[in-house]
Amino acid sequence: MNYYSLHHKSPNTSFKNAVIQGLAKDRGIYFPENITPLSKDFIANITGYTNHEIAYEAIKQFVGDEIPTKKLKEIIKETISFDFPLVKVDDNIASLELFHGPTMAFKDVGAKFMAQCLAYFNKGNEEEVTVLVATSGDTGGAVANGFLGAKGVNVVILYPSGKVSNVQEKQLTTLGQNITALEVDGVFDDCQEMVKTAFLDEDIKRTLTSANSINIARWLPQMFYFFFAYKELQKTNKELVFSVPSGNFGNICAGIMAQKLGLPIKHFVASTNINDTVPNYLVDGVYNPKPSKATISNAMDVGNPSNFIRIRELFNNDLEVLKSTFSSYSFSDEETRETMKKIYGDSGYVADPHGAVGYLGLKKYGLKANEFGVFLETAHPVKFLDVVEETLPVKVAIPAQIQKVINNKKVAIKASSYEDLKAFLMK
Ligand SMILES: *Cc1c(COP(=O)(O)O)cnc(C)c1O
Repeated sequence: MNYYSLHHKSPNTSFKNAVIQGLAKDRGIYFPENITPLSKDFIANITGYTNHEIAYEAIKQFVGDEIPTKKLKEIIKETISFDFPLVKVDDNIASLELFHGPTMAFKDVGAKFMAQCLAYFNKGNEEEVTVLVATSGDTGGAVANGFLGAKGVNVVILYPSGKVSNVQEKQLTTLGQNITALEVDGVFDDCQEMVKTAFLDEDIKRTLTSANSINIARWLPQMFYFFFAYKELQKTNKELVFSVPSGNFGNICAGIMAQKLGLPIKHFVASTNINDTVPNYLVDGVYNPKPSKATISNAMDVGNPSNFIRIRELFNNDLEVLKSTFSSYSFSDEETRETMKKIYGDSGYVADPHGAVGYLGLKKYGLKANEFGVFLETAHPVKFLDVVEETLPVKVAIPAQIQKVINNKKVAIKASSYEDLKAFLMK
């Protein structure tokens, strides 16, 4: 499969090159040349397939013949190594728990898939690849874990100082080996901007790639969750509405890809915190990115979501068509906390702040009698321990994955401007 840059100024390129480059030379992100729906039979009989088989069917056209079938199946098996349970919290609403992986956030799937693709493409290469990644919280840990010990790959993670949770910081600063953390004096958008600048800097001779959801190998595997949920919910005979807590809009964009592949999804709700660039765009048609603001759902503190351009492309830049299947609403921290309490009070379910924002999106959308709502629970409550324990009368048990890192010593290099990152990369 070939990919084009959404800035249309770089040549089209293969899956392999798109994965290795991350971003096209014209700074555009990549998009597949074709999207061919899966067969109706496959969708109708989806309950007869294992999750590994479903994932293979969903992704194979996007990889093409660039990874042999056997190898691709191994990569999928290694990636999908935990469950994605649906937990009912209301009569017509369930939480799709995406946090049962090694770092307890949904990004484990994309990070593991991408790490293995890159390792496959880079095998036998003398030259090392440097993966540069900006994180608002969870990407850093997932990428660090996914790439830890990968031969020929160095990982440099930029995170905003003081704006990620304690657990998140430990996950990305304590692993050592081929992982380096840069603690940036700024917000997430500053980290993202530094990464983008480094890609264009001709002085840097290292081979750089990105492991943010701009990278197609990070982004596309996120389609799988929607297929897995559909497989479980098909028997309800209701139309499905997904609410996705959104920051960079990679996850929800992958959901829309699943819909393009023929998965029967009625509607998407992109639920955001007060970083409301997209909700505002849907109201007035003006796309006006703003600096990100800090919230209690910090993994979504993004003022200029990098995947939104892919969503527009999926709808041929037609706002009216987009609005027919996609809504977006913004919620304050206060509403988020109230909702965590309400969900807990009604059902005993402990939602993390991101999941609560997702739940709020379904409520605002207003499910009809023939609809069933799913909100993506994108992280385990332990990742936002302070907020959860302040808000709910619960003590969150620390899972083994977190226990492993929580007492380790943080090691990070301070960076206050692009020059600091550059100096590090020139070493
Ligand atoms: C990354 C993240 C999000 C946002 O996902 P996008 O694909 O960037 O929209 C939401 N919740 C959690 C917990 C995350 O880590």
